[in-house]
Amino acid sequence: MNQAVRPIRVAASACPHDCPSTCALEVDVLDERTIGRVRGAPDNDYTAGVICAKVARYAERVHHPDRLTHPLRRTGAKGKGAFERISWDTALDIVAERFLEAEARHGAEAVWPYYYAGTMGLVMRDGIHRLRHAKKYSGFHSTICVNAAYTGFAAGTGRIAGPDPREMAKSDLVVIWGTNPVNTQVNVMTHAVRARKERGARIVAVDVYMNGTMEQADLPVLVKPGTDGALACAVMHCLFRDGRADWDYLEKYTDAPRELEAHLRNRGPDWASAITGCPAETIEEFARLVGATKRAYFRLGYGFSRSRNGPVNMHAASCIPAVTGAWLHEGGGAFHNNADIYHWNKTLIEGQDVRDPAVRMLDQSRIGAILAGDSEALRGGPPVAAMLIQNTNPVSVCPDQEAVKRGFAREDLFVCVHEQFMTETAKMADVVLPATTFLEHDDVYQAGGSQYILLGPKTIEPLAECRNNHEVICALARRVGASHPGFGMTPRELIDWTLRKSGWGTLARLEREKWIDCQPDFATAHYVDGFNYPGGKFRFKPDWPRVPFRSAYPSGPADRMPQLPDHWTIIEEADAEHPFRLATSPARGFLNSTFNETPTSQAREVRPTVLMHPGDARAAGLADGDAVRIGNRRGAVRLHLKLFDGVRPGVLIAESIWPNEAYPDGQGINTITGADSIAPFGGAAFHDNKVWIRMDGPAG
Ligand code: SF4
Repeated sequence: MNQAVRPIRVAASACPHDCPSTCALEVDVLDERTIGRVRGAPDNDYTAGVICAKVARYAERVHHPDRLTHPLRRTGAKGKGAFERISWDTALDIVAERFLEAEARHGAEAVWPYYYAGTMGLVMRDGIHRLRHAKKYSGFHSTICVNAAYTGFAAGTGRIAGPDPREMAKSDLVVIWGTNPVNTQVNVMTHAVRARKERGARIVAVDVYMNGTMEQADLPVLVKPGTDGALACAVMHCLFRDGRADWDYLEKYTDAPRELEAHLRNRGPDWASAITGCPAETIEEFARLVGATKRAYFRLGYGFSRSRNGPVNMHAASCIPAVTGAWLHEGGGAFHNNADIYHWNKTLIEGQDVRDPAVRMLDQSRIGAILAGDSEALRGGPPVAAMLIQNTNPVSVCPDQEAVKRGFAREDLFVCVHEQFMTETAKMADVVLPATTFLEHDDVYQAGGSQYILLGPKTIEPLAECRNNHEVICALARRVGASHPGFGMTPRELIDWTLRKSGWGTLARLEREKWIDCQPDFATAHYVDGFNYPGGKFRFKPDWPRVPFRSAYPSGPADRMPQLPDHWTIIEEADAEHPFRLATSPARGFLNSTFNETPTSQAREVRPTVLMHPGDARAAGLADGDAVRIGNRRGAVRLHLKLFDGVRPGVLIAESIWPNEAYPDGQGINTITGADSIAPFGGAAFHDNKVWIRMDGPAG
């Protein structure tokens, strides 16, 4: 974009991407079809004028020459990328005909609408549920992101909410654990650094590599993947041992403090050091800081829950402020996400009123097994014969990637992908529909990492023939005979109705005010009147199968979960054949597979690499820049080695997600991640992979 062009206006908006910050934006509008710079809104006190570089240069994405502009029908073999242009009516007729065919042959559950968080707008993301509920298509058990983390947090508190995220600026100790906000949600750093500048607060970061956030911390605590539960146990051990436990708080607010104390007696720093790889002195120092600081704010992220023991680790970390009583203090307690403060009424957006609970739910992360016809993954029901995919790119982002690719290659599977770009999933489709970006349609957003509802109004005209998700869902509904009042409403009408029925005012008010501050009062946010369980006690001993969670579909070995905080040894431990553990952490320039099409992100990330400790590399006869292969029983990936002393020996990090096609033989990093379910409610263990690493041979 020509930045010298003066904007005709500055539009307020909200970042739609799968990032907890949901930043309030200011967008320079150059003309009715063109944007210029995007900035963080300075008058929003969470965004505070700061956004990430990816979104600041959003013009590069909206006006990318590779945007899809018209509907396409496949003409060649699946995945070869041969398509012809067709009209919208033809495209929608084909999709409807194939959905009706699948339904007639196998029943309605043979159609599987599949979506995710490519946009977090409530209308454009969640409207696909209305179509599936109205038609009794297969349900979507959403597991790929939040389940392990939410379950682990709610296990203790009973609710996915916590102290006001802006209180970080009023803390004396900010613990950033399992999230790399320098890469993924910059606002956390804004508030944490403010606490350091204004109050002399210390920042502790806990992670599996010395990323940007760890570099900025006063005390970086470097652990091996999947060992955070052990670290949390050792910190609590020290607090009990050193008389730093707040027994008045424990007796009043928690369920089993004496049992916890006894259980932790043999889980001290030396025990944890052997598991985490972190020196016992560092663990002692961490515990000393926590024990000496009532205003200690634990900002707990998603990263450390992406393990087979993720919920247990998240729960263990959330227990620490319950031992010190930090929950009662401003700037103290634990926060993961504010999902439970919004009390939405999504009846019209999602068609909740026509939902049939008897319809089967299929696990999003197990799509490979589902498309392969695995009867357990299909829950004993019919095969999936037809799919509509919006806002996600499973051929790139889903675990057990080879199985996913084989599934999409099935000749008897019909797939329609509604997308902004020709993603690797779109390439496998029979029909591809061009989608609007967030600036080309109206939507409303809820922030997970803050407490705002924000409006994202249509700001520019849609590119070429692009249509929004709501238009596509409504047009398909007409053709497949689905009826619901929501299909007859505009996005603005849906937003207004939803706001009113949820107790959040009106669209007119939101347009005037740009965002709504939904922060509960101090007592609610800090659980002053008790936690969200009968009796009001924080649970050190969770009832795992009954943790309150919106998608409580049993998955994984819940019967083996530990009763009290612990290191749960269900992870993929390194062994003789697989001496390393690999985490696939988020790259700064990408957001899952979004932005991996923009030139500046590609230039920043350079090429797929794996980070390895120099000592490990020496022992393996590998050198910086070598072409290597990493693999396990699921497959192998070819990429380049980068020596990095900011990981524990035995740990590999591959920042992601590059497209599969960026790798020499088209096999991306999720070739080696597993799709076995995390207990108790599902999830994908993206950072929990045992692997081998070898020099790449000439034949690959
Ligand atoms: S930090 Fe997150 S929410 Fe904010 S602009 Fe970037 S991607 Fe969007």
